[in-house]
Amino acid sequence: MGDLPQDGVPEIALVGRSNVGKSSLLNTLAGQHNLARTSRTPGRTRLLNLFTVNGGLVRLVDCPGYGYAKAARHERAGWGELVEAYLSEREALRLVLLLVDARLKPQAPDRDMAGWLRRRGRALQLVATKWDRLSGNERPVARRELEAAFAATPLGFSSVNAEGREALRQAVVHCDQSR
Ligand code: GDP
Repeated sequence: MGDLPQDGVPEIALVGRSNVGKSSLLNTLAGQHNLARTSRTPGRTRLLNLFTVNGGLVRLVDCPGYGYAKAARHERAGWGELVEAYLSEREALRLVLLLVDARLKPQAPDRDMAGWLRRRGRALQLVATKWDRLSGNERPVARRELEAAFAATPLGFSSVNAEGREALRQAVVHCDQSR
């Protein structure tokens, strides 16, 4: 925590379970292919990765994925300390993007995470990733189920066809007005 910048730049955290499409979303959002590595790199799993965007006005903070069954036990235990401290205490944090896989029914670990963040007074934007994988008929159903489960309006997002990218960019750019 002590190594984080103290420049007052507003931050947006990205959280979600491993494989939800977080790295792909970061790359799509930034319009760069290799900003966030889409392959999992040992050692990176416990760190916060910071990306300054929008001409230095906003910082995106990539949090390690949670609930990755194959992670070593000591790595899973390590998720807690840094990320929990960051999400609980960081003053510069304005908005948390909670990523969920649009193809799955609402998942307990994600709902737990939403509740945990709300108890800490964090503003949340629910992002339904892999939105391109849903048919036109499936989309309204998924939307309703997510809304009911999370009490939040999901933003459909696809890293394949960039659907939802502009809406998410707007949320990022205006994060300072979100609370
Ligand atoms: P992370 O572990 O959350 O960083 O997930 P990645 O970004 O590495 O993505 C995990 C897998 O989902 C990869 O095989 C991606 O190609 C795939 N994926 C990510 N985003 C999308 C998306 O929007 N649409 C589709 N169809 N696949 C996606």
